[in-house]
Amino acid sequence: MKRNHLLLLFFTLSSIVLLQQKAEAQNPIITDKYTADPAAMVYNDTVYLYAGLDECPTERNFYEMHEWLVYSSTDMVNWTEHPVPLKVSDFKWAADDAWAAQVIEKGGKFYWYITTTHATIHGKAIGVAVSDSPIGPFKDALGKALITNDMTTETPISWDDIDPTVWIDDNRQAYLYWGNTKCYWAKLKDNMIELDGPIHTVDLPNYTEAPWIHKHGDNYYLSYAYQFPEKTAYAMSKSIEGPWEFKGILNELAGNCNTNHQAIIDYKGKTYFIYHNGGIQPNGQSFRRSVCIDELHYNADGTIKRIIMTSEGVQPAQ
Ligand code: CA
Repeated sequence: MKRNHLLLLFFTLSSIVLLQQKAEAQNPIITDKYTADPAAMVYNDTVYLYAGLDECPTERNFYEMHEWLVYSSTDMVNWTEHPVPLKVSDFKWAADDAWAAQVIEKGGKFYWYITTTHATIHGKAIGVAVSDSPIGPFKDALGKALITNDMTTETPISWDDIDPTVWIDDNRQAYLYWGNTKCYWAKLKDNMIELDGPIHTVDLPNYTEAPWIHKHGDNYYLSYAYQFPEKTAYAMSKSIEGPWEFKGILNELAGNCNTNHQAIIDYKGKTYFIYHNGGIQPNGQSFRRSVCIDELHYNADGTIKRIIMTSEGVQPAQ
C-alpha cells in the first residue's frame, strides 16, 4: 500500500510538471524581456541559447545593450533563464555595448567570443571570456581584446570588427569568422585566445554582417546578414577555409526589424534556425528585438530550403 501511495504521488506530481510544460512554442520564444543576436550550442544533450539584452528605452532608437543572457532547454520549447553570466563591465578594457557573441566548448571549457566597443582603441572590438560551465559565470580570458579595429584595414569604418562566430574543425583546429561589410577569418591557437596566423577575407555578395558557420554532412555553410535591411543568405564549401560558393537567400526580412541574425544548430534529429525580429508588441522593433526559432530543412543536394518564419514556433523536440 505504501508503495502504491508513493507511485500515486509520483504520477500526480509528474502530471503537474507536465501541465506546466508548454506543448508548443510561440515566436518570439522569450517575452518578458527583449533579446537579440542569438547564438546556440548543444552540450550534454542540452541546448544553451545565448543572446544580448536589448534595453533601448521606448523614446530612443538605437542599441542599448550592456549584458548577455543564457537560457537552456531540452525540447527547444521550454526555456530556463539562468543568472546573467556576462556583462560588458567584466571586460576592463571595454567601454560599452554587449553586441553579438557566440559560445563554443573546447576541452571542457566554454569560450565566449563577444563584440563590444574598445575604451582606448577607436572602434568596435572582439573579446573572449571563459568558464568551466555553459551557464557561467564567465570571466575575461585574455585581459585585453582579441581583435581590435586597427588590426583590419580593408574598410575605413570603425565597426567592421564585430559579430564573431567560431568553428572547431574535425582536426580540432579552431577558426574565427567575423566582420561588418567585410567578412574576415583567422585560425585560433589551441588555447582559443590567440590568433594563429594572418587574417583573411572572404568575398560574399551583399555581405553585411552576422556570419555563422555550421556543417551538415560534408558541406560547410557560411550564412550571413545580406543587404540592409537584412535578409539572411548563405554560401557553401567543402572546406572551412573555402572557397565559398554563394547559394542565395535563406531567410527574408525579419518583419519590423532591420537586422537579421541567425544561429543554426542540430538537436534531436532536426535542424533549427534561431533568429530575431521585433515581435513583442507594442514596442518591439529594430532596437527592441526578440529571439525566435523555426525549423531549417535541406534539399537532397545539400542546399537549404527557404526558412518559413512562423508565429507558432516549433514543436517540442523529442
Ligand atoms: Ca577594422
